[in-house]
Amino acid sequence: MKTYNHYINGAWIEPASGKYFDTENPYTGEVWAKIARGTSEDADKAVKAAKAAFESSDWADMRPTQRGKLLVRLAEIIERESQRLGELEVQDNGKLIAEMGGQTKYLAEWYRYYGGLADKVEGAVLPSDKPGIFNFTRYEPMGVIGMITAWNSPLLLFLAWKLAPALAAGNTAVIKPSEFTSASSLEFMELIKEAGFPDGVVNCITGMGLEVGQPMVEHPDLAKVAFTGSDFAGQKIYETAAKKIMPVTLELGGKSPNIVFEDADFEAAVMGVISGIFAATGQTCIAGSRLLVQRSVHDKFVKRLIEVAGGAKIGNPMSMDTHVGPVTTQPQYEKILHYIKVAKEDGAVCVLGGKPYTGEGARGNRFVEPTIFTGVSNDMRIAQEEVFGPILSVIPFDTEEEAIEIGNDIVFGLAAGVWTSDIGRALRMSEKLKAGTIWINTYRAVSFMSPFGGYKRSGQGRESGQESIKEFLQVKSVWIAQETTAANPFIMR
Ligand code: NAD
Repeated sequence: MKTYNHYINGAWIEPASGKYFDTENPYTGEVWAKIARGTSEDADKAVKAAKAAFESSDWADMRPTQRGKLLVRLAEIIERESQRLGELEVQDNGKLIAEMGGQTKYLAEWYRYYGGLADKVEGAVLPSDKPGIFNFTRYEPMGVIGMITAWNSPLLLFLAWKLAPALAAGNTAVIKPSEFTSASSLEFMELIKEAGFPDGVVNCITGMGLEVGQPMVEHPDLAKVAFTGSDFAGQKIYETAAKKIMPVTLELGGKSPNIVFEDADFEAAVMGVISGIFAATGQTCIAGSRLLVQRSVHDKFVKRLIEVAGGAKIGNPMSMDTHVGPVTTQPQYEKILHYIKVAKEDGAVCVLGGKPYTGEGARGNRFVEPTIFTGVSNDMRIAQEEVFGPILSVIPFDTEEEAIEIGNDIVFGLAAGVWTSDIGRALRMSEKLKAGTIWINTYRAVSFMSPFGGYKRSGQGRESGQESIKEFLQVKSVWIAQETTAANPFIMR
């Protein structure tokens, strides 16, 4: 059995409480490691170490070009270790090895991209309207950034999306991964060390949200928190941050519409809808959990969805031919089954799945059949609330206007998919849908180059892309009088 401690100031440190909690393999149900159960004392140690590192000459005086080189070096180490990291994620999280193999390699691109960007952050010389005064701006790092991540893609997406731009900008970090999937972030610390980042620049503390996450957010030396998780926890963190007037980035939940028009490429749309909801066992923030399908093709479309999703191979996430793996956590498994019950009670019609999967390939007790509900109206709970599982709600519509209205009739705004062969309609839909990402005739495409984030209750701020480095910088305006004169002190200059 492996034991993981906190990683603080370049060393593995036992938790102040002396306590550990179990982490298990969602497929086998076996406990395979013990993880340090952090408290406010550990959070304090980690934030103080990150603050000292932020102020140390080793980091503060390092030129952006050198920081960029460290990030590029890290990208090379990630590529070398990608297979091992991918397998670790499967063991701790239950994600498919078929997907993780490529994803862990791709992770390196975020570090390479922001490594390249580190020395391209430029202030400006402003065309001052004040005679004799020179004015310029400079971008400065903020300080210690707290990074709190969700369990569904801890290392690959959420950590890279935050850590790479934050380090490129010259900040230091304290990471608090999900209590359900902490191992990959902890293993990643060895890569950080090998890349040559000074001690204390990146720290990782583990444990429960309220026990160690909350004290970290409350810590007076934390400059910003970047969070990925539920809207519920996001709101709590926002409230805590507000008390200190501390900036936040929030990547929260979604209930994204995947909208299919009758003029769409039928088979491409079927595969896109399936990938939107059943890939990663539906445990993605961008899940296209509401299928809006034009009434004229509704029946034919649902029939084909049932054929394809009904034939998905469920089972061992380590097998390359598995399509649907286990649900990562026990509470999540119970939540999914609860929502199936709610949907049935509210009158939705279950046309596929609707129960735990216990057939061939299943082990442990964490499988749910890919499930499709028809007869869903957009005011039902199954259409309005995030389930985070392999449950698709099908809602028919007649006109483009109606599709937009239903698509936007939701508190979330993370993503939306549109399937059509009409370019005019594609452009109109991309303008009218209120979501941070719109996919036309594709789904689940993300890139280090492209900003990602939510409208409405899906979040605050953007990750990835060139702009997102500014989420970790603050701008300073500097005024220099070109000649010193004793001006009238009682009027504004
Ligand atoms: P969660 O909100 O329960 O937990 C996320 C993290 O926050 C964990 O590390 C947890 O320990 C911590 N936490 C919880 N309460 C806290 C508090 N009061 N103070 C500080 N830390 C606290 O989310 P989850 O169940 O791990 O993940 C699933 C959710 O994440 C879904 O809602 C999903 O949509 C969302 N998500 C969003 C994105 C995105 O990019 N928008 C991506 C993935 C997941």
